[in-house]
Amino acid sequence: MDDLLPLDAPYDRVSVLLPLPLDGPYDYKADPALGLGRGAVVEVPLGKRRMTGVVLGPGGDDVAEERLRGVIRSFDVPPIPDSVLDLVDWVAAWTLAPRGSVLRMAISSPGALEPPPSSVVLTSVSEVAWPPNTRMTPARRRVLAVLSDGPALEPKDLAREAAVGPSVIKSMADAGLLDRHELAPPPPFKAPDPNRSGHPLTGEQEIAADALRRAVTAGAFSVAALDGVTGSGKTEVYFEAIATALTAGRQALVLLPEIALSAQWLERFEARFGVQPAVWHSDLKPKVRRETWRAVAEGTARVLVGARSALFLPFHELGLIVVDEEHEPAYKQEDGVAYQARDMAVVRARLEEVPVALISATPSLETLENVRGGRYQGLHLAARPGSATLPSVEMIDLRRDRPDRGRFLAPGLVRAVEQTLADGEQVLLFLNRRGYAPLTLCRGCGYRLECPNCTAWLVEHRLLGKLQCHHCGFSGRLPRQCPSCEAEDSFVASGPGVERLAEEVLSRFPDARFQIASSDTIVGPDQAAEFVRAVNAREVDVIVGTQIVAKGHHFPWLTLVGVVDADLGLAGGDLRAGERTYQMLHQVAGRAGRADRPGRVLMQTHVPENPVMAALAAGDRDRFLDYETEQRREAGMPPFGRLAGLVVSAPDPQRADAAARAIARAAPRLDGVMVLGPAPAPLALLRGRHRRRLLVKARKEINLQRVLRDWLAPIRLENAVRLSIDVDPYSFM
Ligand code: ADP
Ligand code: ZN
Repeated sequence: MDDLLPLDAPYDRVSVLLPLPLDGPYDYKADPALGLGRGAVVEVPLGKRRMTGVVLGPGGDDVAEERLRGVIRSFDVPPIPDSVLDLVDWVAAWTLAPRGSVLRMAISSPGALEPPPSSVVLTSVSEVAWPPNTRMTPARRRVLAVLSDGPALEPKDLAREAAVGPSVIKSMADAGLLDRHELAPPPPFKAPDPNRSGHPLTGEQEIAADALRRAVTAGAFSVAALDGVTGSGKTEVYFEAIATALTAGRQALVLLPEIALSAQWLERFEARFGVQPAVWHSDLKPKVRRETWRAVAEGTARVLVGARSALFLPFHELGLIVVDEEHEPAYKQEDGVAYQARDMAVVRARLEEVPVALISATPSLETLENVRGGRYQGLHLAARPGSATLPSVEMIDLRRDRPDRGRFLAPGLVRAVEQTLADGEQVLLFLNRRGYAPLTLCRGCGYRLECPNCTAWLVEHRLLGKLQCHHCGFSGRLPRQCPSCEAEDSFVASGPGVERLAEEVLSRFPDARFQIASSDTIVGPDQAAEFVRAVNAREVDVIVGTQIVAKGHHFPWLTLVGVVDADLGLAGGDLRAGERTYQMLHQVAGRAGRADRPGRVLMQTHVPENPVMAALAAGDRDRFLDYETEQRREAGMPPFGRLAGLVVSAPDPQRADAAARAIARAAPRLDGVMVLGPAPAPLALLRGRHRRRLLVKARKEINLQRVLRDWLAPIRLENAVRLSIDVDPYSFM
């Protein structure tokens, strides 16, 4: 490893970045014998604590030797690669988060730093080497007999086979009759085999695959955007690029927005490469997390598929990054460091000098603009392979084709469901609302049940017998009496959630077997896999699902998709509402008719003339994109201009207002920069904190980060007040 150290290493003073909300590193003394260079992971004292940090480089000489504290130890792991340290700097500079907070994501598995526990096996020592006066007993003889005609054994297995107590084994080992050998644990991941063959590719798949393979072989930074209709074989195509990376001896990273639920993806990977890939997401068990982190660092994990945080893993031999479903808003982290994983994947690829492939059936406007500008290579898949065709999409105008009172399915949709069930095929009814009803109100006085901590209605979850806040997790029971007018039993549900829709399914189609699929009913990979199995085994006739069924799944018998409230995502009117609604509805529609049975999609809407609905009905994506692009260009909105959201929050409204006004007063007056607000945030109260928003809008060529830093750095806030900065916000709540 010595040859990895810079010329002036090992350092005797090191500058160590700690995973704390701090921007600057601290200096420590280091014994040169530790051999510390950039990227070394070390334990250092901080106050009375010990902390894990990463060496950025040599320390300065501005602190006197005797005031400097020493590095306690260095961990026996490969150094954090330069590309990751550079990425930490990049993300920090881009998001205005402290560098230490970003570093925290890169060393998020502290246990991984300790060497994995090795197992000990025992062999017998030949009699000539026994110490003098060795005492032999029947028990000891049995132990030696077991070892003489078998393999080396772990102490507990040896004790069991020889029918002796553990103390016998221990005393024999201590007496020098048994030799201890340490066995390193086997690597947790087997190597994927790139040479197994996948499906023979169609002509257009081959062209796209070849472009990706060539990018991998070139081993230079490039961005390809693979834009292909749902079911056109995009996954199949980027598997080819992964195979090329593996053959070239490189690692591959695949980002997937909801990997915890992507059982089907893992199966397909295994079918293609013979083994499961390494997986990374926030719900991993600590042991798996540790093993995975280390396996990535040591190179025994060759392909890793993960959620956005996988971007910070210590790959040393990365050859390819794939961002699947690149348009997914889930790539934007909202809490803590507000980064866009798709964008930062491009940054990491550039730092690594490797290609990145952005995959989508409905690419983001940002990506399409980059293709149009020639910065990204555009690759296209226009057709589904074989006999699968794209579903037909029709609008149901709810102004004319009205559901019965208290019901949510329009007669046109009900007829289509009946027909599909009669044909023995499956139906997905899509409604992106968890629970029974989004709003509960008093029939007598109109009083609405609200969360005490948030500006939000409580959502009834009838299966749980509770009302819940989807923002803070508050939950309570339905009160018998209205707190406002004191009427008894006067609360009624307003609007549908998936549970209420399932009730309608049950009463209209009593013979159909239905399953609710939402994040409340499908938790974790096992339940997701079971759900997929049940649907494919045709144990389910009607799926009543939220967005968790919108993506990635491939159900051959599903031929009808009914979108119960296509307008839902358009409300609120944030920047990307139209784009997001289009993407989501297009994805959901793509679940229909993926095998040889043609699919049909019916969308219930009050605004069929809306450009989103019109484009979906006409199957004319480009019309919508052109419209949306023009709107954004005219308004100077991203990707044609830049935005940053500032949220000021405090435990009471007065302090929130005062701080927000002080920040607004200090706002820069610059050409091309506009500051809007402060105004109460749409979620004016969240988890008990009062929130005010400012929005900064700037022309594209403005260095927005510098503007923000110059403006906000001198501002001192009271302790109780928090300011969070979101560069390129996706949420405007
Ligand atoms: P996408 O990622 O674009 O939605 P997939 O890669 O999931 O598409 O492919 C959709 C289905 O078509 C999958 O079941 C896949 O195995 C199958 N498929 C893709 N390409 C081919 C091909 N060339 N020949 C046969 N089947 C294919
Ligand atoms: Zn709440």
